Amino acid sequence: TVQHETHGFQTEVKQLLQLMIHSLYSNKEIFLRELVSNAADAADKLRFKALSDDSLFEGNGELSVRVSVDKEAGTLSIKDNGIGMNKEDIIKNLGTIAKSGTKDFFSQLSGDQAKDSQLIGQFGVGFYSAFIVADKVTVNSRVAGAGPDQGVQWISEGEGDFAVADIEKADRGTEIILHIKEEEKEFLDDWRLRSIITKYSDHISIPVEFFKEAVEESEGPDGEKIPGTEAAWESVNKATALWTRDKSDISKEEYTEFYKHVSHDYAEPLTWSHNKVEGKTEYTSLLYIPSKAPFDLWNREQSSGLKLYVQRVFIMDDAEQFMPTYLRFVKGLLDSNDLPLNVSREILQDNKITQAIRQGCTKRVLGMLEKMAKKDAETYQSFYNEFGNVLKEGPAEDFANKEKIAALLRFASTNNENNEQTVSLADYISRMPEGQDKIYYVTADSYQAARTSPHLEVFRKKGIEVLLLGERIDEWLMSHLTEFDGKTMQSAAGANVDLSDLDDDDTKKAQEEAEKAVEGVLERAKKSLGDKVEEVKFTHRLTDSPACIVATDDGMTTQMAKLMQSAGQ
Ligand code: ADP
Ligand code: MG
Repeated sequence: TVQHETHGFQTEVKQLLQLMIHSLYSNKEIFLRELVSNAADAADKLRFKALSDDSLFEGNGELSVRVSVDKEAGTLSIKDNGIGMNKEDIIKNLGTIAKSGTKDFFSQLSGDQAKDSQLIGQFGVGFYSAFIVADKVTVNSRVAGAGPDQGVQWISEGEGDFAVADIEKADRGTEIILHIKEEEKEFLDDWRLRSIITKYSDHISIPVEFFKEAVEESEGPDGEKIPGTEAAWESVNKATALWTRDKSDISKEEYTEFYKHVSHDYAEPLTWSHNKVEGKTEYTSLLYIPSKAPFDLWNREQSSGLKLYVQRVFIMDDAEQFMPTYLRFVKGLLDSNDLPLNVSREILQDNKITQAIRQGCTKRVLGMLEKMAKKDAETYQSFYNEFGNVLKEGPAEDFANKEKIAALLRFASTNNENNEQTVSLADYISRMPEGQDKIYYVTADSYQAARTSPHLEVFRKKGIEVLLLGERIDEWLMSHLTEFDGKTMQSAAGANVDLSDLDDDDTKKAQEEAEKAVEGVLERAKKSLGDKVEEVKFTHRLTDSPACIVATDDGMTTQMAKLMQSAGQ
């Protein structure tokens, strides 16, 4: 008899299960995509491991997923012959959520179903989605290369706990048996299942098979013989790696589904770029720009990077060496012809091929964004609203592409009524009046603080546009972005902001007279402030305020000083 031991789910898993069952009612069929996707991942992992140990195939290297139904028992089975799991794996993988930032994610949940179902879409439900349609799930698994007595069984009803037991399992891999809920019986229908698989799994690189019963030989209407077919497993998907196919043969839907598979994202991608690069380095890249930022975009441990394949063999997830940090939102994959199959993260780290591919991919992504900005400003804006603040790390990180990145940035500005970041540096320059040769900006703690900065007074008076930078990252950005299109970026709070070129003679004369009228004030101010200040000067920058503090141009801006202070410097 099989002895089960009971384990409790991690709190977050319980929350996820609860939430999922209540909020994913409109799109239940996705569970099949998740389970087939996991089976394909398991096949990829086995192929990778078998590169160094062929015996793991146990004499059968034909990897596939098989879907079958037992109508009487009311069960649906999804069975793979991939890498498999041992007891330890299964307790960890199917009892906890490994993603970083999960706790924070769940603390954001509001109890409002509509809002929460949005959030859960960003999070991804993975294996646990089985419980959308099943009231009991059994998983039988055995690791490739282990003996038949090394099997493990996992059973749960999706409530507080699950049970595991040692079992015998002759064949390697994982079988997931869903005990379908009474009201979800449609998922026991062969035709329904096939159509879901076709919709979601054409791009999956291993065959997804259904069993076809034998057909007896028969006779046609004119007495001609129609040959029978033997019972067999038949594949319902194309089962070729999508990126190896010709661009012109791949539909938008296939690209979209493939994105969901590699990114574990539920939303559609904004755009993508699929390229076969030939020449000194040969590789295929398929790069996607997501439409929504992941919940953990600002989490330092969040996984980023591309899936790496070498000659069509999966090597690793999250190979972050192929994308600069400021493009960490890009998802997709890379298939290299030049890297060795036994490549490791260490080898990738300091490698000429890596560098060449990284440069190529960076160019692709920047090009994709440029094109989007030019052709479809609205979509670009929606991209920017999600990822703009990440892109702002670019000028500091990627010197070679600084100008390109700068052209992609968008800012709030005195030219706009609201705080939306929509103004490009090129827009700004196109509006510069004659005589103005700098791009002016104000940095502050918030958009509101920038908007009401006293430094803006003179610019307002003269009708000069100023970019309003109120994001945390902006100060850092501006310390690395010193010019664009040959024009200096100038803080409006800088001491030597000089707009006098724009003044006419009458104004200049009036200013001289005004200075004379308050002679002596400067001396008194200097005396009472002592060495708290470097200098006290007259200015004609202010219209409503009597005085303001400015930074010397070689010194820190006041905003930077505040940042350093808050960092304990
Ligand atoms: P994800 O696929 O995003 O990692 P899932 O919830 O879908 O998350 O799966 C959790 C983990 O369980 C996987 O990362 C994998 O380690 C393991 N797993 C799930 N299904 C299988 C399977 N068919 N074969 C082997 N391992 C699996
Ligand atoms: Mg998964």
